[in-house]
Amino acid sequence: MMNLCYDIVNSIEVNNEDQRTSDPAVCVIEAGTGTGKTLGYSIPLIPLAKAKKKTLILSTATVALQEQVMFKDLPDIRTNAGLDFTFAMVKGRGRYFCKLRAERESDKRMSLFGYEDQSIKILKDKFADGLWDGDRDTYSVEVRDEIWQKVNAVVGQCPSHLCPHYAICPFFKARKELDSVDVVIANHDIVLADLSLGGGVVLPDPKQSIFVFDEGHHLTSKAINHFASSCSIDATVKWVDEIFDMIIPLVDNYNNEMEQLATELHSKTTKLKKELVETKDFLLRTLPFKSEYDKRETCIFPSGETPKEVINYAKIVGKILGDMNKINGKMSLIIDGNLKSNPDAGEHKMIVGELDNRFETLITAWSDFVNVKHRDKNGIPFARWVDVNREKKNEIVINSSPVHAGDMLMKDVWNVVFSAIVTSATIRTLGKFDAYLNQVGLPPATPTLLAQSPFNYEENGVLFIPNMKFSPKDVEGIHRRSVLCCLS
Ligand code: SF4
Repeated sequence: MMNLCYDIVNSIEVNNEDQRTSDPAVCVIEAGTGTGKTLGYSIPLIPLAKAKKKTLILSTATVALQEQVMFKDLPDIRTNAGLDFTFAMVKGRGRYFCKLRAERESDKRMSLFGYEDQSIKILKDKFADGLWDGDRDTYSVEVRDEIWQKVNAVVGQCPSHLCPHYAICPFFKARKELDSVDVVIANHDIVLADLSLGGGVVLPDPKQSIFVFDEGHHLTSKAINHFASSCSIDATVKWVDEIFDMIIPLVDNYNNEMEQLATELHSKTTKLKKELVETKDFLLRTLPFKSEYDKRETCIFPSGETPKEVINYAKIVGKILGDMNKINGKMSLIIDGNLKSNPDAGEHKMIVGELDNRFETLITAWSDFVNVKHRDKNGIPFARWVDVNREKKNEIVINSSPVHAGDMLMKDVWNVVFSAIVTSATIRTLGKFDAYLNQVGLPPATPTLLAQSPFNYEENGVLFIPNMKFSPKDVEGIHRRSVLCCLS
């Protein structure tokens, strides 16, 4: 395994020597169980990354694996391998306390239930007294989700350096630390989110980073999920009703132009609501929904082609959303012009930031839903479908998703990073790497390596296929069987 990793290191050096070749500097390695993957890539890559003045980013599939690398593997390597290096674990923004949001929530205390009010106050006090660093995972007790969602850091509601608490913000403090360590422990979701924003937003600059994607067999499904989009019509209607209350502080604090824009935005909300209700009604009346499971029904469009009549409705909704976001952009510019004179401008940027974030998400969902010509370089279309939940007053959700992540990974990951190693115990199909390389968008000539597991499965293992009465897909049958087993 160690030799194997030296090979990988060498290939990275060759690919990145002075001129970057057209192929991305990526290696794919299948290393069977028991080969010591973490040691195998860490021991050669940590000194190599330091020598090249690059950050080594170790990306795993889950937070639990991240913690294993952070609290067990890397401390062991530092103690026993004689390597001197620093490391830190990156977490999503949502794991950190946002003082500005907590203050806003406290201001709304009339609308809060008693226990929520108290819980938010305790969090604020502990943070202010220095008894807690603002990381959800280091709080002395589990913070309930419904409380945490009101006070955590959220990308669309953060005015960044304009925030009055920027200097003490737990998220930005943690983010700053990442620029000074040798090794960053991330997970695939965070890496994909960062790279699809252009990189360097949460993680260090990707061009100055060597990436290791451990558990690389999860990369395709993570990427597909990441680039999929959906939108609940009912949730949007509910949110649209809240817009006017959100922008009231802006009307009170700026000039006539702001008031005019707020009025314009309000009239668009009425129009949008009407169109959404009509679109929902049309979808319910015309689409042939089929029951999948529970009370949810789905209508999948053949070849991912949204029907023309549905596109007509969706385009109107998308156009109104686009107009609303333009108005919001103008409001944001007025606030920018008053940053020095208005002490509350930071908080007002948070409001337009929240609106911008939501508009962008909705616009993407509706445009992916109608953009039926959207195909990857292999001509593979997006999948598109509509869900209806009969238990939730016929809630309608529109969906679209790529079925192949190769193009996106090439554009946002392989072409951007300094170099990368993808590894897992299960990468090959029928003994070959071709299928995997195609799935992740890497050229067939990508260097690949195989490290066999030291375990002799053939002699020590038994494959036992039980003669089951029910197919694994027959959920009800298996459930009945389990109940019978429990009773007997
Ligand atoms: S900088 Fe952003 S995340 Fe941090 S406290 Fe301010 S608003 Fe919240």
